[in-house]
Amino acid sequence: MQISINEIELYMNCPRAYKLRYHDCIEAKKKNLSLCKSNAIQRVVQQIHGGILENVKAEDIELFCENIWQEEITNTDQEELDTIVIQEKPATSKKEATPAITKGQRALENLKTWAVHYAELEKEAQVIYSDVPFEDTIGDTTFTGTISQIRKHPQEGWQVIVFNSCSQLPGFAYLKRNFSISLYAHALWQGLLEVNGEKISIGEIPAVYLYYFPNLELYKKSNGKSQKGDLKGDPCIPVHRSKADLLQFEYEILYVASGIQLGFYPMNVSRPGGCELCHFSHGCHEVTIDNAVKNSLELVESK
Ligand code: SF4
Repeated sequence: MQISINEIELYMNCPRAYKLRYHDCIEAKKKNLSLCKSNAIQRVVQQIHGGILENVKAEDIELFCENIWQEEITNTDQEELDTIVIQEKPATSKKEATPAITKGQRALENLKTWAVHYAELEKEAQVIYSDVPFEDTIGDTTFTGTISQIRKHPQEGWQVIVFNSCSQLPGFAYLKRNFSISLYAHALWQGLLEVNGEKISIGEIPAVYLYYFPNLELYKKSNGKSQKGDLKGDPCIPVHRSKADLLQFEYEILYVASGIQLGFYPMNVSRPGGCELCHFSHGCHEVTIDNAVKNSLELVESK
């Protein structure tokens, strides 16, 4: 049996959504803004390391972001793009009027900020592979997927970088158990990477980092801990996996694979944002909308 990490993630979010997608063949709803942001920043990062944006000015990177953004938002929910997140402000005796800002405009501004600061901070990074497909056989199941970035560090050795552009940093427990992160580490240790049409083995457990793009934004005001203009945080968050973690993970992912194999599809909504963020809710008869999360729909990545 072969299962992709996207299938595993969807099954983990809600097994019924997996059934709707892969069993009932229901098409996903239009791309949401979170997915556009995630796709766009990954494409920009690829170009930065591919050399196209090397030694260019911030304005060029911003222009490049705008072009990529226009491509990514084709076929996106226009209503979501046009939703106003900051109301316009009328002029006062001291300040000029400021126009309203939509979700789409704010997302593009974030993208530009992330790209410019990423290019500055990561120009020395030794990126060995980008968007590299892998396969990893555990028990009788082969898991497949794509690792966004693999680096080699002079002291630490192999590093897997997992990009994240959610507006809220996932919690520690989530990161510690996240199946995608574990599978990427496992794939470098036990699986095969596909590079230029050849399958290669690394055979080592890598260091793993979540690269959290919103930490590349700057504080607009000083506060007790930070000064105006400081980065919001270190974007590189360690999420390493030990050998013991990965051996435990082998059992866990095989439980999930057997659930899929047996057609076990309960409605078990485990993702923050729940049914509201489900791409298959239009085919589900049991959608439950939680108004508390209605205004926080960018909490979770969809990729
Ligand atoms: S709408 Fe809710 S219950 Fe239905 S498949 Fe999606 S997440 Fe699961």
